[in-house]
Amino acid sequence: MRLAVLKERRPAETRVAATPETVKKLIGLGCSVAVETGAGLASGIPDAEYAAAGAEVAPDAAAALNGAGIVLKIRAPLGTGEGAVDELSLIPRGALLLGQLGADAKAAGTYAQLGIDAGAMELLPRITRAQSMDILSSQANLAGYRAVVEAAGAFDRGFPMLMTAAGTIPAASVFIMGAGVAGLQAIATARRLGGRVSATDVRPAAKEEIKSLGASFVGYESEESKQAQTAGGYAKQLSAEFYAEQAKVVAAHIAKQDIVVTTALVQGRQAPQLVSAEMVRAMRPGSIIVDIAADAGGNVALTRPGEMITTENGVKILGYHNWPGRIAGAASALFARNLLTFLTTFWDKEAKAPKLPAEDEIVKGVLLTRGGAVVHPNFAPAKA
Ligand code: NAD
Repeated sequence: MRLAVLKERRPAETRVAATPETVKKLIGLGCSVAVETGAGLASGIPDAEYAAAGAEVAPDAAAALNGAGIVLKIRAPLGTGEGAVDELSLIPRGALLLGQLGADAKAAGTYAQLGIDAGAMELLPRITRAQSMDILSSQANLAGYRAVVEAAGAFDRGFPMLMTAAGTIPAASVFIMGAGVAGLQAIATARRLGGRVSATDVRPAAKEEIKSLGASFVGYESEESKQAQTAGGYAKQLSAEFYAEQAKVVAAHIAKQDIVVTTALVQGRQAPQLVSAEMVRAMRPGSIIVDIAADAGGNVALTRPGEMITTENGVKILGYHNWPGRIAGAASALFARNLLTFLTTFWDKEAKAPKLPAEDEIVKGVLLTRGGAVVHPNFAPAKA
């Protein structure tokens, strides 16, 4: 079975869906692997390393995709009019496509029409068996780390308390908003750097997790927040009254912070706005806000997605796109392993091809289309 790995062409995308390490293992499964030239460059992987791992380096997307039965991507392939190459039209009918496809009903319909079996890895159920395939977790973890490191780089003082002969620099106060996978890693990283760390979340379970990492919990709790978690482990959308009370509690706290890292997401919705313009105005000059949720609309009123801005009162807001892509080598390594684990879990050793049992919980969660039909419950057309 031929497996193709394409160069990512979407803006701000620096990652690649296979590494020399995973290429070797894919070949071990019985695949022949074609990697489009330049696919790994932004992640620090030259073509020669793929070739040394046994891959064919293809001169363009069309050559890589020619005859492919499996296609690995980070982001959804470009369609007609989306860029210089219409990647979608080059994917052979019947191929299995895996990546963070960010799919909606329209895209699912297109995959079905083109006969592509599309797997949207971001829809993977958050169950123990799927942990090692979980792209959202592997990427969020790195985003949380990177956010704190970039905050430290932009901050004009230090994170730890620095006691020197010339005097003492106090430790930075760091506040992490949203303590999921990214937020917990941000807490751990800020603690390792020596910051004084506090954090908030709405899910009741998060409070203990925050404390277990040595940070203090700051937040608003109510009857409503006791039910703030869905069965899948995500935060629910809460009432306007709840958000207003939460804002009151965090506003006073934010004014005293040097660094604020926001990571809050509500699945399938615009990110909740947690930091108002007024709260930013109350911060001291030189303070830093990092908004990891920028691509989902941002948690901070003043965030400009894709940019770093300095407000009139001297607060820097880092709202860059694609935080895991800012640590591309590690992000690609983990993303590639997540995809490899998915394939090895659902691999028919005799046929040397993927075998995706329709009744499997992971397959049901991920697969959008199969054999020309939309099969995912979120997107399947309603039965008459
Ligand atoms: P996420 O990226 O959807 O959201 C990030 C965080 O923002 C969450 O902790 C959420 O509660 C928080 N948030 C939402 N609204 C908020 C608000 N108004 N104020 C403050 N915080 C707010 O979440 P995630 O990182 O993907 O994790 C979601 C859950 O899934 C967690 O419970 C995590 O432990 C769990 N998880 C389980 C597995 C597994 O078992 N395989 C894998 C990964 C994550």
